[in-house]
Amino acid sequence: MRIDLHTHSSLSDGTDTPEQLVQNAVRARLDVVALTDHDTFDGLDAAVAAGERLGVQVVRGLELSCTQGGASVHLLGYGADPTQPDLAEEMGRVRQGRQGRVGGVLAKLDALGVGVTEAAVLRFVGDSPSVGRPHIADALVEAGHVRDRTEAFDRFLADGGPAHVARYAIDLTRGIDLVRGAGGIAVVAHPWGRGREHVLPAELIASLAGEHQLDGLEVEHQDHDRATRHRLRVLARELDLLATGSSDYHGTGKVDHDLGCNTTDPSVFAEITARMSARVG
Ligand code: AMP
Ligand code: FE
Ligand code: FE
Ligand code: ZN
Repeated sequence: MRIDLHTHSSLSDGTDTPEQLVQNAVRARLDVVALTDHDTFDGLDAAVAAGERLGVQVVRGLELSCTQGGASVHLLGYGADPTQPDLAEEMGRVRQGRQGRVGGVLAKLDALGVGVTEAAVLRFVGDSPSVGRPHIADALVEAGHVRDRTEAFDRFLADGGPAHVARYAIDLTRGIDLVRGAGGIAVVAHPWGRGREHVLPAELIASLAGEHQLDGLEVEHQDHDRATRHRLRVLARELDLLATGSSDYHGTGKVDHDLGCNTTDPSVFAEITARMSARVG
């Protein structure tokens, strides 16, 4: 059984529609795929419907923008109730924050001599309610200022980069409480990716597990090298956290993140499924 629990559609910063994503999941021989768009549930109904048509189990997921000590942390949620008001309200604030920072980023890019118009960005945003830096990156590519999204991040958009503008995100402990309060399973996405171990040291993860009932850690992820995966696996075992593995697929928007390039062990997925039914029931 092949299980991929972290993917993005065009309802956030992926390039596949939910239907195309599920079609591609079939091609990648996946049995289970979770759609985890950034700060929105909008793609889930279409993905689930496509999954029923094409014989792939689609898990209703989410990747929530959180913050820990001023640094960005992504929290995956599985099976959270989209109508739970506290979670929905906070997600709305995050999406507003995403919207509100676009003008600031465009002004900085202008000043750097690599201007793009808001209209160009909006074409790449399309139907997504969750505008992100990748959409601005796409406009930079289209204008010929950079080759690809990666170069746009490396030169301009990355955290602390010359065109970076901070935006609202949810305190991580509150994010975990919100996901669990909506009946969801909370898993920290790529916790030690991109040299971020200092943001979430092992002692802090231990307190998230102990005091906030964090469910799991995403261990197998392209942003983790072999040694990091090993150390995270050991930590998850020590803390009795679920260890997941996923692609973080973004369609053509992210290279080396093909569907199914990392997968979650069926026994771990069985436990996630059991917790989802227990919490909703
Ligand atoms: P935002 O949602 O606006 O905070 O932008 C963060 C998103 O940008 C992440 O979810 C990734 O999909 C994407 N991203 C971050 N760094 C890179 C990179 N170096 N190359 C391509 N995409 C990136
Ligand atoms: Fe993304
Ligand atoms: Fe992420
Ligand atoms: Zn992601």
